[in-house]
Amino acid sequence: MSAVSYPWPGVIRRYAEFLPVTAETPVVTLLEGNTPLIPVPSFVAAIKGRFDLYLKYEALNPTCSFKDRGMTMAITKAKERGAKVVVCASTGNTSASAAAYAARAGLRCVVLLPQGKIAAGKMAQALLHGATTVSIEGNFDDALRIVRELGESGLVEVVNSVNPVRIEGQKTAAFEICDTLGDAPDFHFLPVGNAGNITAYWRGFKEYHAAEKADTLPRMMGWQAAGAAPLVLGHPVENPETVATAIRIGNPASWQGAMDAARESDGRIRSVTDEEILYAYKLLARTEGLMVEPACAAALAGLIHCVGTGEIPDGSLITATMTGHGLKDPDIAVKVAGFSPIVVPANREAVMAVMNL
Ligand SMILES: *Cc1c(COP(=O)(O)O)cnc(C)c1O
Repeated sequence: MSAVSYPWPGVIRRYAEFLPVTAETPVVTLLEGNTPLIPVPSFVAAIKGRFDLYLKYEALNPTCSFKDRGMTMAITKAKERGAKVVVCASTGNTSASAAAYAARAGLRCVVLLPQGKIAAGKMAQALLHGATTVSIEGNFDDALRIVRELGESGLVEVVNSVNPVRIEGQKTAAFEICDTLGDAPDFHFLPVGNAGNITAYWRGFKEYHAAEKADTLPRMMGWQAAGAAPLVLGHPVENPETVATAIRIGNPASWQGAMDAARESDGRIRSVTDEEILYAYKLLARTEGLMVEPACAAALAGLIHCVGTGEIPDGSLITATMTGHGLKDPDIAVKVAGFSPIVVPANREAVMAVMNL
């Protein structure tokens, strides 16, 4: 019998020297990570940029978002500690990932979601993987508050990014970018919701720099939705609203981490409107054939904004995280596309007629 070989071992085994694990740690992995860094020259031309842009396409993780990088760590450490039940609050992707990794580990999973504000695909994932799925009559911030209270009881393991090992796992995306490019980029753009990811990327870039695996550090450019922009406003937002449900968060858990990343890197955290988000979402789909979640498009809308203000030097090397897959939210895609299939009789002439040939 020939052995099956897995060239990519998942982020924990690949980057073990940078993570809080030992040789005895019972690694729970779906072989997440190793996602492509895709050049998007047509998109850059369309926005009249004079730089190189690469998208870290995190949609190609096992549950189709970057959350899997943190979740492999969180579920692994929960298993190592002998936890039986894991719990999280989520705008959708954390719950999808927690449900999948808990199923893989044989742990019970409970997810708390803001009622009516979860993209259909994400809800489907939590339900299919067998998580106890609870709709809270409130928003994400309410759900996270309850989860924190449950965590204090000591009966459950919280796998939100308030759990520090989530951030540890997520920083591996920055390592991969440096490994692929041979150095850090000049700028890194990403959407910001609960702010765990910008905290994680900055930590990853700094650790790789300290380990002499990258010569430079990027400027961190974080983007919130205008209706959910507490970090830009400088105070929590009571009723956050945005079409980008993954970043519909009014009181980010990693507030300080995000502010530190922006300050230390000479970066920025700013906001874009829903209109700008959906414009960028559609433009990427039309120019490059890439489908991302609306939240990802906040980073692209931010880049368009920066082209307008002239603050990106010509020839810069830019990366941006595409945090989740557009298929999670097909309702938005159909709405933004702006037209429906054309119905015709089943013959060639009818099809030719609509082709204008
Ligand atoms: C979780 C998530 C974000 C926001 O990341 P934070 O770490 O909460 O800032 C952005 N986009 C998608 C698709 C997400 O799932």
